[in-house]
Amino acid sequence: MQFVLASHNKKKLAEMATILGGLDIEVLPLPENAPEPEETGATFEENALIKARSAADFTGLPAIADDSGLCVDALGGAPGIYSARYCVGTDADRNAFLLENMRDKDDRACRFVCAIVCLLPGGQRLTVRGECEGELLRESRGAGGFGYDPLFFVPAYGCTFGELPGKVKNRISHRGRALRALQEALKTRI
Ligand code: IMP
Repeated sequence: MQFVLASHNKKKLAEMATILGGLDIEVLPLPENAPEPEETGATFEENALIKARSAADFTGLPAIADDSGLCVDALGGAPGIYSARYCVGTDADRNAFLLENMRDKDDRACRFVCAIVCLLPGGQRLTVRGECEGELLRESRGAGGFGYDPLFFVPAYGCTFGELPGKVKNRISHRGRALRALQEALKTRI
């Protein structure tokens, strides 16, 4: 069965193809001219559904979409669904902004969250979520990964997502966990 992935991100496509590799499915990239819907949802799940519906409507194919972000307890869950647009600028600008907002906070608990929605033929919908717990450092460590990775410390590994090899990150990350949950859920349906 063919699915369209509601993302132009080639790394996400490769990661998804690898993790879903055991199933008899092919994950296709979103066509370049597909519209980018406004993410007006109040939750990761709602935004993933908006992206999946838009991709399914445009292509006529079953669709998979994800939405993810970093939730910091001391900030009431911010930046959360606004992680990509927390402030205007680069990843480094957003990390600096987050550190500034956390300057006087002792509670550093945070988690990455990823919701994935899969729209199957016949209107069936699968929704899964993966989370990864961590602590927000006071300064960046590591040059790997992207986004908030250099600030996200994983106690069990004694290093940040920015310091972990990609393979290890995929094993424990919110996205890896959500993808494996999707793989399990799809097994019985295709
Ligand atoms: P998206 O919904 O997957 O495009 O991600 C939204 C935003 O959340 C990204 O732009 C990053 O700021 C942040 N984010 C999501 N996943 C990760 C991750 O694995 N590492 C670092 N930042 C992430």
